[in-house]
Amino acid sequence: MRHTLQDNPTVFGKILRKEIPADIVYENDHVLAFHTIEPQAPVHVLIIPKQHIAGLQDATDADAATLGHLLAAANQVAKIMDVQQSGYRLITNAGKDAGQEVFHLHFHLLAGKPLGAKIVG
Ligand code: AMP
Repeated sequence: MRHTLQDNPTVFGKILRKEIPADIVYENDHVLAFHTIEPQAPVHVLIIPKQHIAGLQDATDADAATLGHLLAAANQVAKIMDVQQSGYRLITNAGKDAGQEVFHLHFHLLAGKPLGAKIVG
């Protein structure tokens, strides 16, 4: 189900409406990037579309432009955070088994130390 900006009930909807604060790293017409409140690496930034998509499991070909904007923004965030050359990991949790908690699509950009090969808990 897609929400408008005004009726997006998720915590990220509240952030997009400026109802709750966020530590913003980057913003353009399509995406917003901000620090998570529960960092799991020295650099842990969330990149979200301004348009509501519940998660990657809800994305279709019609969302291709939005998905492209998210990936391009992630690399921009890496540059801003000065980890573009040292390296970073970009992940998304899509649905229950992945542990998705906020049902507004987001990518986690993790960096700032060697992250290791393990990507499954
Ligand atoms: P996920 O488990 O993939 O849905 O990740 C949700 C992410 O949102 C986690 O990194 C949370 O720490 C983060 N988060 C939840 N509430 C907020 C908030 N108010 N501001 C920033 N990050 C948040």
